[in-house]
Amino acid sequence: MKKTLLALAASALTLSAQAATLIHAGKVFTGTSDSLKEKVTLVVEGNTIKAIQNGYVEGDDSDTVIDLKNATVLPGLMDMHVHLSMQHGGPQTYLERYSLNEADYALRAANYGEKTLMAGFTTVRNLGDGYNETVALRNAIAKGIQTGPRIYTAAKSIATTGGHADPSNGMAKSIRPDVGPEDGVVNGVAEARQAVRQRYQDGADVIKITATGGVLSVAKSGQNPQFMDDEVSAIVETANDYGMTVAVHAHGKEGMKRAIRAGVTSIEHGTYMDDEAIKLMKEHGTYYVPTILAGAFVAEKAKIDGYFPDIVRPKAAAIGPLIQSTFAKAYKEGVKIAFGTDSGVSAHGDNAQEFTLMVEAGMPPAEALKSATVSTAELLGISDKLGSLEAGKLADIVAVPGNPLDDITVMENVIFVMKDGTVYKRS
Ligand SMILES: [Zn+2]
Repeated sequence: MKKTLLALAASALTLSAQAATLIHAGKVFTGTSDSLKEKVTLVVEGNTIKAIQNGYVEGDDSDTVIDLKNATVLPGLMDMHVHLSMQHGGPQTYLERYSLNEADYALRAANYGEKTLMAGFTTVRNLGDGYNETVALRNAIAKGIQTGPRIYTAAKSIATTGGHADPSNGMAKSIRPDVGPEDGVVNGVAEARQAVRQRYQDGADVIKITATGGVLSVAKSGQNPQFMDDEVSAIVETANDYGMTVAVHAHGKEGMKRAIRAGVTSIEHGTYMDDEAIKLMKEHGTYYVPTILAGAFVAEKAKIDGYFPDIVRPKAAAIGPLIQSTFAKAYKEGVKIAFGTDSGVSAHGDNAQEFTLMVEAGMPPAEALKSATVSTAELLGISDKLGSLEAGKLADIVAVPGNPLDDITVMENVIFVMKDGTVYKRS
């Protein structure tokens, strides 16, 4: 008898301790349908969505009510391609690698991470840093030491000698460092495996390779293939052994096709994707992460004299404007699309401008929203926890004024951010 009373008292305590947060949402895009629900209450307990109820539920005195009756509530947004520790700022950016230390990059990452979260992006994939600073940032955010999005990081990208992510590109021979797998420069199968295993050891969640030339590196070609078949296969097989997926930077079609055939998970940018590449991506279920925003940004900056080094400028002018039409075609053909911006090229916090560019290219607004919620959760393998607003999922919830299905640009004005049940922004 005594025992039962004690048990009852204990359960009463738990009940009163579990005060709920009730979000009164005028409109909701749950991600489970293409239309909006109206006048609902999202019941959040701890870090979990407990229920979504019709009407505005009052709750009791211990509950907190958040009034978003004039807003549209959505799942936390996800960006599959960011570089939190850098932001391109014109010609001086190319000098930073001579003047900045690890700690400088770490502080930048913390600051840009916070900006990203405040823009409504509660989860990001960081595809390349310099010194594993985004591994440290991910851990600090997860521990509550720093404010920022949930991070899945590739740590340092993997390239081949002179390739797009070789950190020694553009340096005079007298000062050029001797770089190897640890720095993300590999040649041959053994080094490819070693680099993947080192990233696993360093705490990476995903592997990023640069399978073709790139726009902003100090190197001539923006599209030549830069990995052999056996090298990219070695990367994918080793990554899979360690439970990691592979994200692939690719502009040119040959490098892209080698990567898709090897079984990579996503193609980033994809500029010169042709019909055969599209067919291969559909066959292999490869995701396309377009980064239209980065293309638009560099194309615009290429018009300014001196903004880019001479070797970079023509690449930016040629490749930049093509990405949006490649996206339009890939979407129409039914390639799986996951939202990504390459932020760090454009400014952190401007991520949502990508939605406008996607809609401009012919994607319906509801599809664009799903590409940054449902599809990104699938790509990351976390659909059981995130990506839609449903009872039982983690409480990553954002809100925008107005109706994004009528005017997608409202996504650029996020007024409320909750991540893992904690409110970070409320205006
Ligand atoms: Zn990138």
